[in-house]
Amino acid sequence: MIPRKKIIAGNWKMNKTQAEARILVADLIQEIGRFDDAEIVLCPPFTALAAVSELLNSVTNIRLGAQNMHEAASGAYTGEISAGMLRELYVRYVIIGHSERRQYFHEDNATINRKTKAALAAELRPIVCIGETLPEREADTWKKVLETQLHEGLAGFTDKEIADIIFAYEPVWAIGTGKTASPAQAEEAHQFIRKTLANRFSSAAAEKVRIQYGGSVKPENAKELLSKPDIDGALVGGASLDARGFTAIIKNACL
Ligand code: PEP
Repeated sequence: MIPRKKIIAGNWKMNKTQAEARILVADLIQEIGRFDDAEIVLCPPFTALAAVSELLNSVTNIRLGAQNMHEAASGAYTGEISAGMLRELYVRYVIIGHSERRQYFHEDNATINRKTKAALAAELRPIVCIGETLPEREADTWKKVLETQLHEGLAGFTDKEIADIIFAYEPVWAIGTGKTASPAQAEEAHQFIRKTLANRFSSAAAEKVRIQYGGSVKPENAKELLSKPDIDGALVGGASLDARGFTAIIKNACL
């Protein structure tokens, strides 16, 4: 079995102006610009993509991602951004279906399915987010929730396409709350996701898929979480806004 390279992505959400982004990225380049023990991805807001892209140009090991995209190639979709527009800025990854998009912008599994297809068609690597809410965890329906998100979100996909997707298991109750799933809880969910993928697609494709954990990842908990066999990386929100914190997560977890 080929080992899965760890992937750590920073989701800046609606934070950092272009000027602030330049400062953060310059610090990150100093700290981890040549780091090669994990794939590192920065996902700034759309308005900072061009500036960050320019700075990363000379640094091959930090890659650029976006936080969202529209599924259409162009057209009358005021306020939206297409995959082609992202590609032009050397964006290579795109977060799809973050729980904040599901909650505040009513993105459902069918929308996420279309966006993921469009991302793959444009040769962007989708980071597809799934995860249960607190009531769903407490009612012990989390497996059903994940199964439905995967089933509907991946309807019509092929084995080859699945292997190119990065999944992020993000229990909604752990995002931005300071509460983290325990390493055992997270590993159980990751194993369940991989098993569900193996049942629907092939075990070879499921083995290749990288599954990140997201939800209050910090320098103090990153190592233990990422030492679990099915946790292949992290999607980091709040802690990715600070160069020292993000660097510490990467080094603690991957060295
Ligand atoms: C996220 O935005 O995907 C996230 C996990 O946020 P935080 O790390 O702040 O919980």
